[in-house]
Formats: sequence, structure tokens, C-alpha cells
Amino acid sequence: MPHGFITRSVHVGQTPHTSSGDIVPPLHLTSTFTTERVDQLTNVYEYSRAANPTRDAFQEALASLEEGEHARAFPSGMSAEDTLLRAVTRPGDHITFGTDVYGGTYRLFTRVLTVEGRASTPVDLTDLELVARTVRENRSRVLWVETPSNPLLQVYDLRELSRIAHEADVLLIVDNTFASPYLQRPLTLGADAVVHSTTKYIGGHSDLVGGAVVLAEGLAIPSGIAPLADTGLVADDLQFLQATVGAVPGAFDAYLASRGLKTLAVRVARQSATALEVAEYLAQHPAVRAVHYPGLSSDPGHDLAARQMDGFGGVLSFEARDPEAAVAICQSTSVFALGVSLGAAESLIEYPAIMTHGAKSGTPWAIDPSLIRLAIGLEDPQDLIEDLERALAGGK
Ligand SMILES: *Cc1c(COP(=O)(O)O)cnc(C)c1O
Repeated sequence: MPHGFITRSVHVGQTPHTSSGDIVPPLHLTSTFTTERVDQLTNVYEYSRAANPTRDAFQEALASLEEGEHARAFPSGMSAEDTLLRAVTRPGDHITFGTDVYGGTYRLFTRVLTVEGRASTPVDLTDLELVARTVRENRSRVLWVETPSNPLLQVYDLRELSRIAHEADVLLIVDNTFASPYLQRPLTLGADAVVHSTTKYIGGHSDLVGGAVVLAEGLAIPSGIAPLADTGLVADDLQFLQATVGAVPGAFDAYLASRGLKTLAVRVARQSATALEVAEYLAQHPAVRAVHYPGLSSDPGHDLAARQMDGFGGVLSFEARDPEAAVAICQSTSVFALGVSLGAAESLIEYPAIMTHGAKSGTPWAIDPSLIRLAIGLEDPQDLIEDLERALAGGK
């Protein structure tokens, strides 16, 4: 790998296929590509559902940053998850997943994949014995991990989980949305595939919905599954499936995602630094019962995060005195906007029990109704802290 992460984030995939010398490759807003012969493509590309140069540029860059062999962009994080799972599982298969996953992922596993005959079991991923037993007893095909988790910012040991998965012949898939490849590269820790909601840190500006899958080198279709393409590689089946079902992002969204990658490192470094300041402020506030942020040295995930990540990220959560106080705080900030999502320039506050994790209400994994999640943006830290100060004091 000739260059460092940040240099690659600026340059990989950005060599234009034109003679005009653009430093930014042009946006290929085209559905189809012309050719001169019926039996041969003159220009590599044929039709944008199958492939598009703007999408390819983004995929090449993301694969490099995640240190994977192959990346595919999707129109949303959820479609990336769904298409990957269709490629590597079949009806009758089982998925073991962390209890603290994204609400939409929980819904996909428990409401949609189940009707297609794919069962799943949530487990506490800090209990490695339990994870090993669950994948073994259910003969799982996939172990699905999100770290740091959402909304509790727990940190799970990817090296250990990959060892457990591979001993049981299970694929380890990691949702790396919260960390971004700048802070964590799961494929280098043993994961087989990484998924992203590029809506978040990679896009970085609250102006696109997108997703991606990145695969480890040479990842093979698990034994017992008949491949769709004839190579037996997940990369080829994923491409075949994506082009067939049509889960493709538009070129403009792929362009925005590429542009986002170029500033990923500076944004995430700044968001992480501010998140630590905000976490330290909240940790000493008398109206705050607990703060969940692996950057705090007192946090249970701190040492592990320091080992497996290059920073602690821009998301944190905290517990207010009671549910009424939590709702009031969420509705009284003015710099933090009340809204779901994360990873952008604008700081966001949200109430997970209803807004992002409502799918878990009434289950043993329902979210504490006193919990508030903050997604730190790029504003001045002092303005964010003063905003919280006012909200915690019950003001507007
Ligand atoms: C947002 C999110 C998703 C879903 O991605 P979309 O782009 O909204 O479809 C999946 N996982 C995590 C961790 C997320 O934050």
C-alpha cells in the first residue's frame, strides 16, 4: 500500500478517464453507454444498473480505505445489508447478531428475513462464551456485529469475535458505520465483510442516503450454498445480485460519497475531539446519570477501543434523570437539531427509545427511556456545551 490513509482518501479512484485534465472526475449522469459492435463493449460500460464510472470511482476508493479487495455502493445502508445477506445466506440459515444493533437492522432481521425463512438470535457480544455457544448451537451462517454499538456505544472485540466465528465456520460481518474506516478497519482484524451506511460519516453532509459493502480478499461463498455466478466468490455473486435486483445508487449520490471521503479524516478527527469535550462536560453534570462514550477513560469499552480503533468517534449517549427530562432536553436545544442520523457537519440530538430504536420497544432489548443520543458535528465545542447547559437547566 504505497500511501497513507488520508492521501488515499483524497486520490484513489480520482484519475479521470478524460483528456481534459479535470482534477475531479466528471459526474457520469448517463443511464446507458454506446458501443460499436453488437458482440463487444467499446467503452467497458454498458448500462448504469450494472456499472457506472462514478460509482466505480467511489467503490475503488472505499475498498482501498477499508483495506478490502472489493467494494460495492448501494442506494442505502439497509439495501447494502439486505443484498449482502441474500448473497451469503439462504432460507433455513441462521444469523447471530448483537443485541445493540441499529433499529433498522433489528427490523430487517426480525421482521423481514424471518418471513423468508432466515432465523436470527440476538446475543450480548461482550459475553464471548455465549456468542460461541449461540453460533454453534444454531449452526449460524453469519455473526453480525456493530461496534461501537448504537445507541449505547459499547465496544466489541473484533479479533476475538472473528476467532469465534471462524472456528465455527461462520462469516463475520461488521457494520462499520459508527467508526468509519478512518477510525477502524474491521477487515484487518479478521472480519469477512464490512457494511456502511454512507449516509453518515462517509457522505458527511446530511445530503445523501447511501450504503456500501466491502469484502475481504478472495471471500468465497460459504459451502453448502449454490453460487449465483460461477466463480464461487462473494464479490461476483454480490455484483450479480445487485445488477439483477437493481439495488444501485444514482451517479450523483456516488459522486457525493466520493467527495465525502476526501474530507472524512479531518471531519472525524474534529468530531471525535469535540465529542470527548462534550462527554467530559456531561460526565460531571449533576443532572446526568451516566455517559456512554468509549473516549472517556472510565468507560468500560475504553481500553479495547484504544486497541482496535484509531480514535473514539463523534457519537455519544447519556442518561437524563428520567424519561420526562430526556424528552424535554431533546426538545429544547437550539444548536443541536432534533433529528435522527449522525456523521454530518450539523450536530444532532435524538431520543432513541422512540426515534431510532422504536422497533425494539416491548422487547428485552428496549432502549432506556431516559437515554439521549448526540451526534457531534463540526460546530464550535463551546457552543455545543452551552446549548446542552441551557437544555439541562430546563431552558430554551
Ligand atoms: C443509518 C444506519 C444504518 C442504515 O443505513 P441507511 O443508509 O439509513 O439505510 C445501518 N447501520 C447503522 C449503524 C446506521 O447508523
